[in-house]
Amino acid sequence: MDRIKKKVGTINYKKGQWFLLGCFCYIISHEITHLIFMKLFSREKINISIKFPTISVGSGAKFNKMQFTIIALAPVVILGCILVLLIIFTKRNYTFLWTILLILNFAGSGGDYMQFFKIREYPSNTYFQDNSDETVIYQEQ
Ligand SMILES: [Zn+2]
Repeated sequence: MDRIKKKVGTINYKKGQWFLLGCFCYIISHEITHLIFMKLFSREKINISIKFPTISVGSGAKFNKMQFTIIALAPVVILGCILVLLIIFTKRNYTFLWTILLILNFAGSGGDYMQFFKIREYPSNTYFQDNSDETVIYQEQ
């Protein structure tokens, strides 16, 4: 056994914790992006509901079709662009982390796409109110 002593490398598992932290930061940034656009379109108070493991933001405001579409798709589009830029412009060691988060960005936004496809079915005089549990739909008389 004396022959087995030449160390050729190590495997470090501590980096796994960065992935958890990265995912956590991603989820927070995602919800904050929804929130920023809700605030941009309305002064109504925002409610944040945390039901482990999901967190979602809602508002008492009624948004028109265009506004509601932007609110739903803003995180996947904006964070997606930021992550692609990070993959291109940061060091190679980070590429894997950003790629995982980019996958999370597209996979984790399932509810947002669903909302987008539902919104499209309604005419332009429709208003949407998302209380973070469900979306209530109104129509102009
Ligand atoms: Zn979302």
